[in-house]
Amino acid sequence: MTTRLCPVCQGEHLKPFLWRRQVPVHQNLVVTSQGAARSVTRGELDLVVCVDCGFVFNRAFDLSRLAYGADYDNTQSCSGYFDAYLDGLVKDLVDRQGVRNSTIVEVGCGKGQFLRKLVNFPASNNTGFGFDPSYVGPGMDLGGRLAFRRCYYDDTCADVVADVVVCRHVIEHVPEPMVLLRSVRAALARSPHARVFFETPCVEWILRNRVVWDFFYEHCSLFSAGSLREAFTRAGFAVERVDHIFGGQYLWLEARLGCAPLALAENLSGTAALAQAYGADEAILRQKWLYKLHELKGHGNVALWGAGAKGATFANLVDPDGVLIDCVVDLNPNKQGGYIPGTGHPIVAPADLSRRGVKRAVLMNPNYREENQRLLAEAGIELDLIDWSE
Ligand SMILES: [Zn+2]
Repeated sequence: MTTRLCPVCQGEHLKPFLWRRQVPVHQNLVVTSQGAARSVTRGELDLVVCVDCGFVFNRAFDLSRLAYGADYDNTQSCSGYFDAYLDGLVKDLVDRQGVRNSTIVEVGCGKGQFLRKLVNFPASNNTGFGFDPSYVGPGMDLGGRLAFRRCYYDDTCADVVADVVVCRHVIEHVPEPMVLLRSVRAALARSPHARVFFETPCVEWILRNRVVWDFFYEHCSLFSAGSLREAFTRAGFAVERVDHIFGGQYLWLEARLGCAPLALAENLSGTAALAQAYGADEAILRQKWLYKLHELKGHGNVALWGAGAKGATFANLVDPDGVLIDCVVDLNPNKQGGYIPGTGHPIVAPADLSRRGVKRAVLMNPNYREENQRLLAEAGIELDLIDWSE
């Protein structure tokens, strides 16, 4: 499928800036054999930026290649840092935003971890409805205060009168984000005063910081603050604010229902310039990392730290045949013993590193540095953590 128009603003000025062929379509698949890991489904990454609104998307994206089944695991709660981040978001929603005595809808709730925290927050008196076609678990919990529906959230769900709608890390997986936003708008037909909160990666942060491993197949729709604001406004929301959170990596949008305007709100061409500059640099960066990995390998085996989307993407970019990197470390026990989709690198626990002769590990997300260093010190594991952004 090749899209000729921007899915957000229908603009025609699309500039390609990144092309990768034969990338694994899933980054968070749990694969139990090396052979299966190397023969996973692949697709093309053909990223373009819309010069008019700054939206970035994969125009070669094919949703039918993806299957978010039981083998899919993107749990990040094995990290204390990430869990504390979620607790902070919940506390902010309850304390600063006054999300109390509220009926909260979570769109794409996964296993319901975030919604459970919101409903369980002391003295908040909240009720939660989680919507997710891939939800697995009981339909009702917390004495009826938490309910789950195994479906999309659209106009057929208007019976749930919502005070708050939360949607975290969903919209970047959707090839037609306007369809999702208009569905949410339609589902709120009987909830005129609902407040809407969305969280998604910030594409300008990725471009500016040259974070090559943050571009991967599952994230087919990437927003700048400006294009996110534009998308919500066009879908009939009144945007109150868009903030940068999680060290700048994520955007946090707050909106209410409003009226759709007719024209672009502001000039948003800055993202296109960033994308062009990034595109010119990616091949050079890749060469630099190859050189660096060869150099590191001269002093002992090298691992990557983090088998999530970032680690899997980096491994596929710099070591597709699995010869430079020995293994990938991950704290999620469900991933340990498995293999990275595409390359077949084994995923191991930190305790396995000494036995494998690993002296250095490349840290995929510097936000986790302190936590990992503490964990290594407590376990008596000697390991140099290398941060690419340094
Ligand atoms: Zn556009």
